[in-house]
Amino acid sequence: AKELGKNNFQVYSSSLNAQTFKIFSLESSLRYAIERGQLELYYQPKVCPKTYEIVGAEALIRWNHPEWGLVSPDEFIPLAEETGFIVEIGDWVKRTACLQMKLWQESGLPKVPISVNLSANRFLERSLITNVKQILEETNLESKYLEIEITESSLLENEKVVFSVLEELKRLGIKVALDDFGTGYSSLSSLKRFKGLIDILKIDRTFINDLTSFETDDSNFITNTIIQLAQQLKMEVVAEGVETTDQLKVLNNYNCNSIQGYLFSKPVPATEFEKLLNKGKLI
Ligand code: C2E
Ligand code: CA
Ligand code: CA
Ligand code: CA
Repeated sequence: AKELGKNNFQVYSSSLNAQTFKIFSLESSLRYAIERGQLELYYQPKVCPKTYEIVGAEALIRWNHPEWGLVSPDEFIPLAEETGFIVEIGDWVKRTACLQMKLWQESGLPKVPISVNLSANRFLERSLITNVKQILEETNLESKYLEIEITESSLLENEKVVFSVLEELKRLGIKVALDDFGTGYSSLSSLKRFKGLIDILKIDRTFINDLTSFETDDSNFITNTIIQLAQQLKMEVVAEGVETTDQLKVLNNYNCNSIQGYLFSKPVPATEFEKLLNKGKLI
C-alpha cells in the first residue's frame, strides 16, 4: 500500500509538472501567436428552428500551437487575460470577424450578423466604443451586422460606465447579447437593470442539455419561462448547445428565435462556413 501511495504521488507530481510546463510554454508563446499567424477564427451558425436558415454566426477563436496542437480558448483566454494579451487578441478577433463578414457580403453571400465574444473579466470600458467604431470604419461593415457577446460579470463593474457604454453601442446600432444566461449570480436583476440595452439573450447550454421530450418536465418549464420572459422584455433568444432533434422540437414549440449547436454545425473554419452560407439552409 505504501508503494502504491508513492507511485500515485509520482504520477500526480509528474503530470503536475507537465501542466505547469505547458502553462509556462503557452504563456511565452502566446505573445507571438498573432504575428506568427497561429490564431484563427472558427464560425458557428445560428439557425432559425423553423426554416433551418442561417440567421447569424458566432466567431470563436482557435490557437494552432506548433507543439501542443489546437489549444482550447477555455485554456488560453484566461491566460491572455492574466497577461494582458487579451487586449491585442480582442482587437484581432473583432477586426478579423468584421473583415471576413464584409468579404462574404461583397461576394454576394446572405448578409447575416456576426458576433464576437468580449472577455468576461474585462468590464465594458469606454475605449471599447472608439475601438469598435474604428474597426467598423476600417472594414466598412455596417454596424447592424456586428454583435457583441458579453457575460453577466462584465455588467457588474462600474455601473455608470457600463450604462453609458451600452447606450453608446445602442446608438451605434451594434447589438449586445447576454451570453451563458442563467449561470451567473444575478441573471434576473441584470435583465431588470439593463432593460432595453440588451438585445439578445443566449440561454446557457446546461439548460438545453436538460430538456426532455416531456413538456411537463421542470427543466422544460424553466427554459420555456426564460424564453417567454426575454420576449416580454423585447429580447431575441438564442439557445446554445442544441445537439438533438428532440431539443430542437421543444425549442421550436417554445418559439425560440434561433438555435446554435452541434445538431446543425460545430464551429468551422472560414472556408467551411462559406459553404454553409452559400447553401443558406442547413439540413
Ligand atoms: P461561449 O462563448 O459560451 O461559446 C460557446 C462554446 O460552446 C464554444 O466552445 C462552442 O464550440 C461550444 N458549443 C457550441 N455548440 C455546442 C454543442 O452543441 N455542444 C457542446 N458541448 N458545445 C457546443 P469554444 O469554441 O471552445 O469556446 C469556449 C469559450 O471560450 C467560449 O464560450 C468563450 O467564452 C471563449 N471564447 C471563444 N472565443 C473567444 C474570443 O474570441 N474572445 C474571448 N474573449 N473569448 C472567447
Ligand atoms: Ca459566446
Ligand atoms: Ca455561451
Ligand atoms: Ca462560456
